[in-house]
Amino acid sequence: MEDNRPRYKVECPSCGKVMYVCKSIGQEMGMFDFGGGKCINCNLRLNFTFNPNKEEMVAMEWEKWREKKEKLYSKIQNLKGEIAHGRD
Ligand SMILES: [Zn+2]
Repeated sequence: MEDNRPRYKVECPSCGKVMYVCKSIGQEMGMFDFGGGKCINCNLRLNFTFNPNKEEMVAMEWEKWREKKEKLYSKIQNLKGEIAHGRD
């Protein structure tokens, strides 16, 4: 069967290699940062985040994305904590 899914242009943040990737199953379901892979040139582990407003895919270094994500999670946890304390 022919693969007619749209491909999106991404650029490796490290070496600038241009690649074309499909949306992952997670991204199809709306989890837009649920993409990942490796740069075919420098082998760097990458996260692919889909921007539905611009219909474009953005590549980010996996470690940087994870750091950002962890910060966001701890922010949410702190917020939850504040809300919980507010009820006391
Ligand atoms: Zn690269």
